[in-house]
Amino acid sequence: MSILVFGGSGFIGSRFIKRWNDHSSTEIINIDKLTYASDQSNLNFLKEDKKYFFYNEDINNKNSIREIINKHKPNIFVNFAAETHVDNSIESSYEFIQTNVLGVQTLLDLYREYYHKYSNELNIKFIQISTDEVYGDLQDNDNHFTENTKYSPKNPYSASKAAGDHLVFSYINTYSLPLVVTNCSNNYGPNQHREKLIPKVIYNALNNKSIPVYGKGNNIRDWIYVDDHCDALIEIIESSTEYSHFNIGGEHELKNIDLVNQVCNALSKKLNSISDYKKLIKYVEDRPGHDYRYAIDNTFTLKNINWKPSKSFADGISDTIDFYLNKYKV
Ligand code: NAD
Repeated sequence: MSILVFGGSGFIGSRFIKRWNDHSSTEIINIDKLTYASDQSNLNFLKEDKKYFFYNEDINNKNSIREIINKHKPNIFVNFAAETHVDNSIESSYEFIQTNVLGVQTLLDLYREYYHKYSNELNIKFIQISTDEVYGDLQDNDNHFTENTKYSPKNPYSASKAAGDHLVFSYINTYSLPLVVTNCSNNYGPNQHREKLIPKVIYNALNNKSIPVYGKGNNIRDWIYVDDHCDALIEIIESSTEYSHFNIGGEHELKNIDLVNQVCNALSKKLNSISDYKKLIKYVEDRPGHDYRYAIDNTFTLKNINWKPSKSFADGISDTIDFYLNKYKV
């Protein structure tokens, strides 16, 4: 058995590879274009490992990806490769469409070809990693997103992810292929790029820079520790479930401003610092079309796979801060 991970050098992909490697001795193949969001040092622990293979490729390069697939003959495909920063998608959405839509279509065509060739001898599955942002946003009294909530993306990033997911659903319906889409809430933890909220708060606090918070900081996100997300994916891969769509949520909703305050407080406590990092918070002009609230209903997933989010937010934030203190060399 072997597993092929696309985008394994980014935040969640690298944690997934670590988690998978801790739990299984299969061959791991990582294909990543190494964009600015990737960090190969996250996978240093595998450098000398003979069952780990890395290829620096764009998922749109069909012929090269086909060659790698045919060489390693994986059973499991997991696609994390994506452009992921909403702010960048508002500046320009070209790369988002290239990777999150056309790249997914390229992988689906290769998967279809491969499945027809090898499904008699291999037990094959493809997991497309997606986000809760495809559902649009909620108001305070709205019900949480379920797998039946209609897609209603509101920014170029979430629209590109929604388009990728629709392609996957269409390949399930049209070609009866074993494919799964997972929609997860906001991840936090080690290995995330500094452009994202929690690493940015920690980095700016440590460097005495202002901590920008959009609008009044009232937007609400549902936070999940990255390893809890990865463990849900491992369960989905290993279970014999026939279902093709799972929501994965952290069951921990927080306003952005409350999150930032909690990170600042935890940081002061950890460093025994008298500095009040909260003084660095600066409210800035809101992001255009900023979604108000996301919240995942986990009911279906809890019922159908053997998983639940297990890391408490306090422990998750503590481990996350330790990681970035080490990374930013404090
Ligand atoms: P990331 O930006 O940290 O990493 C993305 C990785 O994909 C990088 O290593 C990058 O080099 C690679 N990549 C980008 N374009 C590529 C291409 N054309 N070919 C090959 N590799 C390419 O992203 P992340 O936060 O780890 O997110 C991974 C997946 O999870 C994405 O699909 C994202 O939509 C989804 N997701 C993320 C979150 C979150 O909170 N971060 C939440 C839910 C879902």
